[in-house]
Amino acid sequence: MVLALGSPAWPALGGTDIVARLAGSLGLPHIPARPALTPFELSGPALALCRDLAGLSLTARVSLATSGSVGTAYTDGLLFTHQGLSGPAALQISSHWRRGLELRVNLAPEVDVPAFLRAPARAKRQARAVLCELLPRRLAEALLAGLPPALAERRLAECARADLDALARLIDDWRITPKGTAGMARAEAASGGLATDAFSPKTMRCKIMPGLYAVGEALDVAGELGGYNLHWAWASGFAAGQAV
Ligand SMILES: Cc1cc2nc3c(=O)[nH]c(=O)nc-3n(C[C@H](O)[C@H](O)[C@H](O)COP(=O)(O)OP(=O)(O)OC[C@H]3O[C@@H](n4cnc5c(N)ncnc54)[C@H](O)[C@@H]3O)c2cc1C
Repeated sequence: MVLALGSPAWPALGGTDIVARLAGSLGLPHIPARPALTPFELSGPALALCRDLAGLSLTARVSLATSGSVGTAYTDGLLFTHQGLSGPAALQISSHWRRGLELRVNLAPEVDVPAFLRAPARAKRQARAVLCELLPRRLAEALLAGLPPALAERRLAECARADLDALARLIDDWRITPKGTAGMARAEAASGGLATDAFSPKTMRCKIMPGLYAVGEALDVAGELGGYNLHWAWASGFAAGQAV
């Protein structure tokens, strides 16, 4: 018997928790499922900003603001939505995010923003004009709306060091704590599933229940965006197919 029952991700497309229930009744080790690759839902001023910008996307670097997760960062498309943030960068980091954790968003990851703002060539330009040079105009205007109005009109040469730092952080270190994610309902995959150490990585055969095989998302394997989940489903299915 080959279990190819997927995960609880995106139930409207057929995802169920049947693997967890089978694991319970068969006594197989199982890791609880968690949504992966799912959009963020925001609240308060950050949500208002996202709603104003819904539909706008740009390349951003999104990371987790925790020392324990240094290195977990994705530079990819970020999409503002009516609920919060989506797009590849948000979906990728959502697989690592836990409730209460803060996200750090760099909206101009290819640019050294503090150096850009301090460049002599821009000294005589207004903060508003320079931000519009760095970011899509709608986004720049929305971010500037959160600053004292006089600062947006000031020439960069006339800005105090603290003001330039504040402008830079607005762009390269936007911090948000999501209210949550869209969860399983909109997850493109789920982490968790049957524990991999109970199965042969060559044949997908169960080590504690001969005759049983498991493939794809039924196992505790979740890939990043880029086709890795389909690849795993097909590769593990092929391996089991050779063995049964
Ligand atoms: C919206 C969305 C977009 C995705 N995009 C990508 C992508 O671009 N690239 C990528 O690599 N991966 C993508 N994935 C993930 C990928 O589709 C899955 O990882 C992959 O399909 C898992 O294959 P599987 O065979 O393990 O499970 P599934 O493809 O989920 O198949 C499991 C099957 O079991 C059936 N089933 C469940 N319960 C029962 C039951 N009780 N009785 C009988 N049948 C049952 C289900 O209906 C389903 O047909 C996406 C997923 C979603 C939801």
